[in-house]
This record gives sequence, structure tokens and C-alpha cells, in this order.
Amino acid sequence: MKKFHLAFAWAVALLLGVSAAFAADKPKYIFLFIGDGMSIPQRMMAEEFNMRLNGEGLSINSFPYQVMTTTRSTNSFITDSAASGTAIACGEKTENGTIGMDSSKTRNLVSTAEVARDAGKKVGIITSVTINHATPAAFYGHNPSRGNGYELGLDLIKSNFDFFGGGGVSEHGDGDADIYDLAAQAGYTVLHDPQDLLKLKPGCGKVLAVQKDGALPYAIDDPDGFRIADYLRKAVELLEDDPDGFFIMTEGGKIDWMCHANDAGTTMREVIDMDKAVKVAEEFAAQHPDETLIVVTGDHETGGLTLGFADTGYNSYIERLQYQKCSQDEFSGKLREVANDYEGVKSAITEWFGLKFDGEDDDPMQLTDAEKNEIRDAYDRSGEDHKEISRVTHTVVKIFDNKAGLGWTSGAHTALPVNTSAKGVGADLFKGMIDNTDVSKKLKSLIL
Ligand SMILES: [Zn+2]
Repeated sequence: MKKFHLAFAWAVALLLGVSAAFAADKPKYIFLFIGDGMSIPQRMMAEEFNMRLNGEGLSINSFPYQVMTTTRSTNSFITDSAASGTAIACGEKTENGTIGMDSSKTRNLVSTAEVARDAGKKVGIITSVTINHATPAAFYGHNPSRGNGYELGLDLIKSNFDFFGGGGVSEHGDGDADIYDLAAQAGYTVLHDPQDLLKLKPGCGKVLAVQKDGALPYAIDDPDGFRIADYLRKAVELLEDDPDGFFIMTEGGKIDWMCHANDAGTTMREVIDMDKAVKVAEEFAAQHPDETLIVVTGDHETGGLTLGFADTGYNSYIERLQYQKCSQDEFSGKLREVANDYEGVKSAITEWFGLKFDGEDDDPMQLTDAEKNEIRDAYDRSGEDHKEISRVTHTVVKIFDNKAGLGWTSGAHTALPVNTSAKGVGADLFKGMIDNTDVSKKLKSLIL
């Protein structure tokens, strides 16, 4: 009998010891970053630009674990953000367009964020696009269609997550059924002004701190604005006191938008903007080195961006992206103001993209006669009252990107794998070649 007791005590001690050791390998604080539309070309474009201008690459590229990650959905080699978001969030593949459900659209999947919530962790979701857009919604929503923004907004409230920040709720409704009103009734502090968010103190309860409407402005157009890095810094301050720690997902959502539009300069600044948010996590990790995991991934490549161009051969001129001073959306607005006067259009092109019509022949930003004709032709085809002046924008951006030695092959997503980077406690799980579903599986194994 005594022998049995001893053996039992020994077994219990062993079990406790093992579980204690196991627990020590699990991070208390988990940061997940998703660059929407960010694959290796997007990362390396920003890396090379930063190296040339500042002698310093991206933080995300310095992480010790970097693994190739496949992205296909159940019905296409080329995924959309709903299917890839679901795969990254829930660890199971689904059809394009589906949020947090399996491909039969009958079964709800469980996201890493929901697992973290149920394990007692605080949960934060931050994005530069609308907060019920496909990628963030995949962490709390369950809907056969990403297009059902209002229902996804209701799922957001139901999630009971602790912090939402960034772009507004799209299709938030009006009157009594407005998502913001319903969130307030459900106990959320609903804020639309970042200055009000900054006043909140830990212990304030659940927070929905988003713009009233729409995505955040592009980083290139809003360098001094309240960015995802700022939302993340505040989320960390509000959530870190929980004894079980937190899980925070931060999305750089507009990388994808400007890749769809084939605008390299704006894309690159969105990547750098997300890298700044990653630095916030790294600063926190430096204070909590034995308790923090940071994982950065992309959901798919967008645009078929490539870091070389037929006319520039073996040369690369990525540093020329510095001459672009606004996004192509903003630029079309500027062109509209001067659309009736072609001289004004030319000056705007020089002012905002550095492309010259009358420079020296050896000036790299001097337009060739063929390029000038291309721009003039786009202007002449911009229609009555130049309503389609965006034709000029697209031509200018294409010429500008090609002069930087960059090419695009698509206005849609591509099947190029993405890169997943990991650093901190549990990062060594990210090795070999993985699938996007593995990101969730590994993170869940580090929470449960
Ligand atoms: Zn997209």
C-alpha cells in the first residue's frame, strides 16, 4: 500500500512537473499579424527600399523563423481573403467567399481568437480596413458569405472580444438596429475618435474603437495619423493586465487594395506601416521575453507583383518609389481639380510622382517620348468633362512602377505562397513548409 502511495505521489509529481514545464513553453501573450495581399515580393520590395534609403530592413524579415506557407482554398488554387482568413483563423480550409464555416457551409469553425477567449485570455482585433471585412471577420464571424456585412457585425458583438480597433463597421445600419448602438447595449464602450480611446484606462471593459465609417486612410496619405501601430499600442495597454494574457490579431488590410490597383509606392508604405505595428509587439516582447510570441503572415499574394521589369533588365530602381507622394486614389482627386488643363495635369504628375516632361535626357525620371504619348493618349480618352481622368492615373502609375523596375501581372490575387515569420516563445513550431491552416493549428496548440 505504502509502495502504491509512493508510486502515485511520484507519478503526480512527474505529471505536475511535466505540465509545469509544458506551460513554460506556452506564450502568455500572442500577437498575430496578417498582411492582406502580402507575399514575398511585397515584403522584399519594402525591405530593399528601406535598405537603400535608411540602411535598415523590415523587422518582420529579421525574425528567426521564416517558413513558406501555401494558401489554396477548397475550390481554387487562388484563394480569396475570406477562405484564407478562415484557414489562418480556424485551421480548416473552406471555399472562397466563406467566413468561419466549412466548405459545406453548414458547420461553424472555431477560431484561434475564440479558443483564446474561452481559455480566459483577453482578445483584440485590429485592422486598417473595415472591422467586419473578411480577414478580421474570420476571427469572430460565421457566415456563408463575406458579403453579409451586417450579420458579421452582429457576430462581432456576439464574440464578446475585448478590443476592436481601426476601420469602421461597414453596413452598420441605422436607428435601433445600428451595430454601434447594439454594441453599446451589449456593454461595449463605442468610440470613433482616437483621442477618446487614448483616455481609456485598463479595467475599462470591452472597447469598440473604430472610425464611424470606412477604412483608415492610406499610410502614404496620412503619415501623421492614428495608425494600426497606435491602436495596437493602446490595445496592449488595456489588455495586458489579465493573468491569462492576451491574443491580438492585427491586419494590414490595405496592402491588398493597392496591389489590386497595381500601385507599388502605396503598397510598400502599407507594408512599412504594418511593420511599425510589429515593432510595437517587439517592444512589448522585449519587456516580456519569456512570455510572448509574435507571428506574422500574409493571406495570399495580390497583383502578381514582381521585382524586375523587361525594360530595366538586371537593374532595379526601387529607391525611385520615394518620389511618389500620394496614393493613386488621392492622385485621381488631384487630377480632377485640374482636368480641363493638360498643362495642369502635367504639373501634377511631376509634383506627385516626380516624372518629368522637360528634364535633362540623362535624368532617370525624365519621360520618354513614347511615355509622354501614352499619358497624352490616356488624357484624350478620359471622356466628356474628363470624368474618366483615372485613366491618366493608371497610366502614370504603371510607367512610374516600371521605371522603378517593378512589374505586375494581375489585378486579382495569385497562388504564390506567402511567408510566415515567428519570434519568441513557441516560434520554433514554425518550421519546414507549412499550409495556412497550420498557423491556426500551431497557435491553438500553444493556447490549449
Ligand atoms: Zn484582395
